[in-house]
Amino acid sequence: MKSVQEPVNTKSINLLDFDRKGLAAFFVDLGEKPFRATQLLKWLYQEGVEDFDLMTNLSKSLRAYLTEHCYIATPEIVLEKVASDGTCKWVMQTHCGNRIETVFIPEEGRGTLCVSSQIGCALACSFCSTAQQGFNRNLSTSEIIGQLFVAQKRLGADNKITNVVMMGMGEPLLNFDNAVAAMNLMMDDFTFGLSKRRVTVSTSGVVPAMYRLSQVCDVSLAVSLHAVTDELRDELVPINKKYPLKELMDACRDNAKIAPRRTVTFEYVMLDGINDSVQDARGLIKLLKTVPSKINLIPFNPFPNSSYRCSSKAAIERFKTLLNDAGIVTTVRKTRGEDIDAACGQLIGQVQDKSRRHLKLHPVGSERAA
Ligand code: SAH
Repeated sequence: MKSVQEPVNTKSINLLDFDRKGLAAFFVDLGEKPFRATQLLKWLYQEGVEDFDLMTNLSKSLRAYLTEHCYIATPEIVLEKVASDGTCKWVMQTHCGNRIETVFIPEEGRGTLCVSSQIGCALACSFCSTAQQGFNRNLSTSEIIGQLFVAQKRLGADNKITNVVMMGMGEPLLNFDNAVAAMNLMMDDFTFGLSKRRVTVSTSGVVPAMYRLSQVCDVSLAVSLHAVTDELRDELVPINKKYPLKELMDACRDNAKIAPRRTVTFEYVMLDGINDSVQDARGLIKLLKTVPSKINLIPFNPFPNSSYRCSSKAAIERFKTLLNDAGIVTTVRKTRGEDIDAACGQLIGQVQDKSRRHLKLHPVGSERAA
């Protein structure tokens, strides 16, 4: 008996998965000229055209091929929340049903998009709520650039995204190839054309990937430091057990040699009684002596079941003054989007955890705070 044939979906190539180089190689494989890549990028990212039939500078046969085999897909916005300060958080669903979060932070003269790189996070930083969600998988290039694509469309021309920080859910340098492809795309003149100074990747300190990064991608680097001794950093940012402070600092020095970075931004979350003493500030000054650096102090943002507390305003001010007096440019990150859980470390999405990791929530931290 003849079985009934299911219609086959032949559309298997998401064109947002390619950066310009990848797209040029794709067209060359099809027997086309590499410049088709820039034509296609312009249609997709600058003209907002997704119907291949309307891409009039491509040949009819190429348009037919693209229509048959290719598609454009991004994560979909399933929830939008706008905070009282104008910060906007989107929960976006991926094709596999998990949810990630993306945040837009409007400021005078600029608009920053905080982009996720993974579904959940495999690192167990004890003060971060994303860590509690566990880990599902890396986001694809299209899912990373797709957040920018969707967000800019939603915001409209009057709210331009001028800056991107890879500071959403996940560790971007553990999703190296896709994160780099997406960042290279963001900076491409034929897409969003963001300047390399306005794209920042933040890492918890994946040392080998930091060396690789300096070779292939010219973005600004931020490092989540949070502690100045291995003992405390092992506890706050457990990847420190694998790549301790000395190795991390060597990698930072290496990165700082490369334009446009020259300086590395160090993020330092302010935890009451844990890492905010005068001694910690002195340790930080000593640690950063040989790295051209800026410091961004982040007031700790609480989340359910976290037993850390944010340092007092006075402690943050004292810490900042000590660093500034030692000649290190230090700023305190303004907390944005707190009332919609969109602030640093508050992004949770909806993650089908595959890591089966059961987190113990910062036992030592709470002791020290007491
Ligand atoms: N995994 C990368 C990207 C995340 S960036 C990294 O670790 O750098 C998010 C930034 O917010 C990091 O500096 C992170 O340490 C910080 N953060 C995490 N949880 C926080 C919280 N509860 N309050 C304030 N900052 C937090």
